[in-house]
Amino acid sequence: MSIIIAIDGHSSCGKSTLAKGLARALHYAYLDTGAMYRAVTLYFLDHQINYHDPAAVEEALKQINIHFERIDGKNHTFLNGQDVEREIREMRVSGHVSPVSAISTVRRAMVAQQKAMGRRRGIVADGRDIGTVVFPDAELKIFLTADVDVRTSRRHLELAAKGIDADWDEIRRNLIERDRIDSSRADSPLRQADDAVVIDNTLLSEEEQLEKALQLAQERLELQVSKQ
Ligand code: C5P
Repeated sequence: MSIIIAIDGHSSCGKSTLAKGLARALHYAYLDTGAMYRAVTLYFLDHQINYHDPAAVEEALKQINIHFERIDGKNHTFLNGQDVEREIREMRVSGHVSPVSAISTVRRAMVAQQKAMGRRRGIVADGRDIGTVVFPDAELKIFLTADVDVRTSRRHLELAAKGIDADWDEIRRNLIERDRIDSSRADSPLRQADDAVVIDNTLLSEEEQLEKALQLAQERLELQVSKQ
């Protein structure tokens, strides 16, 4: 018996940390949907695709192949056979990813792949539209939120750990701008699903957050078993 766990929320509020922790504890697959939008954005930037031109976007999407591999226990994103895990986290990608992911043809292509990956359940996915659009039938939906300064500091640390030097104020501006675009776009905007559980992790440690979520997952699994 396995379930789908959907995690949505604002930028840099610890969604991927929680999703990876849950996937590890439950032996589930982890799906980083943000990495897919980042990989598309990287392709557009590297191939000078004008993403305001619908025909160019449609043509480019046919050339894009994204897959994930686990290397030394870590999730790596591959774009057309090349490991782009580091590049997709850089500020030049962060600066364009929200307008790119607001494009309906881009979303349609990514969501179709994401739905296919969750067909057998036993998956933890994080993003912006997971509980509302990608897996509306997920047994557990979590909506994460945290104070913006705390989120900025976490992102700053995360980038530094990857050897990426970014300015704190620039990161903060980027988070706010991405949240604004992600929440106000016409196609599948970021919003809390009606049946999502909200976790504000501003004052929670990673362990406390994981413990809370694991308890919820356990409850949903027991509910599944009792329904059988
Ligand atoms: O999760 P992450 O911050 O890496 O996502 C990067 C961007 O990708 C988000 O700011 C958002 O614009 C877009 N995204 C999305 N839908 C998802 C996941 C990410 O639109 N399911």
